[in-house]
Amino acid sequence: MNSFRTRLTIIMITLIGLSVLAAGLFMGKTFKNNHLDALQDNMVREMRIILDQMEWRDGTPEELYGYYTQEAQRLKKITDSRVTFINGSGVVLGDSDHDPETMDNHLQRAEVQEAEKSGVGRSIRRSDTIDQNLLYVAMLVDPKQPDAGIIRLSLSLKEVDESITRIWTTLLVGLLILFVVAVFISFRVARGLTRPLEQITRVSKRIKNLDYRARVSVKGHDEIGELGLAINAMADGLQVQMERIHQNESQLASVLDNMIDGVMMIDRDGSIVLMNRCAEEMLGISSKELVGRHYLEAKQQYELLQIIQDGLERKEHLREEITFYFPEERLLDLNLVPIFQDEEFGGVLLVLQDVSAIRRLERMRSEFVANVSHELKTPITAVKGFAETLLGGAVDDPETARSFLQIIFDESDRLNRLIGDILELSKIESRRIPLQFSPVELSSFIDKSIKLMSAEAARKHIVVSLKAEPGIYAEADEDRLRQIIMNLLANGISYTPEGGHVTIVVRPVAGTRYVSDGEDYDHIRISISDSGIGIPKKDLPRIFERFYRVDKARSRGSGGTGLGLSIVKHLVELHKGSITVESTVGVGSTFTIVLPVLQ
Ligand code: ADP
Repeated sequence: MNSFRTRLTIIMITLIGLSVLAAGLFMGKTFKNNHLDALQDNMVREMRIILDQMEWRDGTPEELYGYYTQEAQRLKKITDSRVTFINGSGVVLGDSDHDPETMDNHLQRAEVQEAEKSGVGRSIRRSDTIDQNLLYVAMLVDPKQPDAGIIRLSLSLKEVDESITRIWTTLLVGLLILFVVAVFISFRVARGLTRPLEQITRVSKRIKNLDYRARVSVKGHDEIGELGLAINAMADGLQVQMERIHQNESQLASVLDNMIDGVMMIDRDGSIVLMNRCAEEMLGISSKELVGRHYLEAKQQYELLQIIQDGLERKEHLREEITFYFPEERLLDLNLVPIFQDEEFGGVLLVLQDVSAIRRLERMRSEFVANVSHELKTPITAVKGFAETLLGGAVDDPETARSFLQIIFDESDRLNRLIGDILELSKIESRRIPLQFSPVELSSFIDKSIKLMSAEAARKHIVVSLKAEPGIYAEADEDRLRQIIMNLLANGISYTPEGGHVTIVVRPVAGTRYVSDGEDYDHIRISISDSGIGIPKKDLPRIFERFYRVDKARSRGSGGTGLGLSIVKHLVELHKGSITVESTVGVGSTFTIVLPVLQ
């Protein structure tokens, strides 16, 4: 751009320089001509006056030399010019400055020739004698007789030359000033012209470097202004478009990142193009390291690499379930879909779905059905067996019949409870029973529950105690809360040997901290501890599962269904609470429930 400005400036300066020079030359020449014309006119006038005042004598040159020389010298004094008289054949008759007898014939002198033709002749010549430019003006004495004679005045052009030099000097100084001003103006004009272009170029470069906020501030309605407007409009368009693209991109990225399925895109050369957060988590790899690299560099399980290779080769939809052991054990459902762009194979899209939970649920469901059937079968088999024995004749022995009937009664009672628990659990799980929350004063509420179990406790000589400050409230569904407490209390009593004790402690907490009297609390912690047989560590994580019992024979003996803790856990969760257990075999167990005060 700068070179353009320089070029423009040079062109303008050259043009201005040339025109100034031409103007100078023309002016100089015109001035000189005018000056010479004026001098010539003057001299012609002088010569006319001379001729009018003197007598033009004829005769041989020898007779006339004296007269004309004298005249010439006299006239020189008046006119201040060299005066020469020449006869019709070019012989000099008299001269104010030279001896005419020594002078050569003047017929061939340019001014003489011209005078003979047109009456007056002019010539400028260098006189070697005085080493100056001289202006010679010759005139016919009698215009009607071309060969009558010629009078010639010559004048040194020293003054003329000097004044022309002076004029030239003035002119040059003027022209120089003009030139400098012109240079300055042309520089300004060039800059004025190129500056918007430079700005436009700068803005274009910024736009090229993806800075779409850049705008041209060029104003005006000329071509450059229009160009600026066009560039701004283009930048506006680009900015809007880029924003849209960014928006789409971030939308797509957030969709991808928030998907619960893993997504991975691999191009036909096997390079990983894209990978979402879920895929990173499932495969335990980082997209920053792997995007742009070959999928083999992901160092993944053989089966995964194999299915990708198959997909790239076969270009068809493949599906497989693979168990992964890193970063954690899970069952992933792999869907490999070929991507076609403009009917050309572009690579594959791998969608990873964690089906561990689904499969676990399916397994649990079928296990549950199996368990339920099994649990139902046991009492029914007993009832059927004892009834058969009775029918087979045992009914006749009153004592046996009585004990058998008692067993049949107990088993059908168990069956009844079992079915009751199963129905209850399924109701709770499917949330068919809405909870009715109301503030419950825990101290008296738990005390009442303890009273309901007192007969059972007394039978086993178990002391049940309650540590709860009166006046602690929590919002709960009374029936459900009673169910929770009774279940845990019953377990405590039933899994504690005779003479043991069960303790219930109620404490308000704020965050994770117990609070003392009068302080605000947001949760209630209820712990039910017993001095019972305890639960082995390996069973702890599973005791809240349906039908899970640590010791099947013992539990059944105590009349348990194996559903109590499942129901408790569900009910606690319906109250947005949590339940945990700590236990040491032979020492006792503590079940702790944390419930929010407000629902
Ligand atoms: P159950 O009806 O058999 O008691 P639960 O679901 O209430 O079924 O309990 C599951 C299992 O957890 C029980 O079979 C028992 O082995 C164990 N368990 C529950 N509470 C206690 C406890 N307080 N002390 C020892 N073991 C317990």
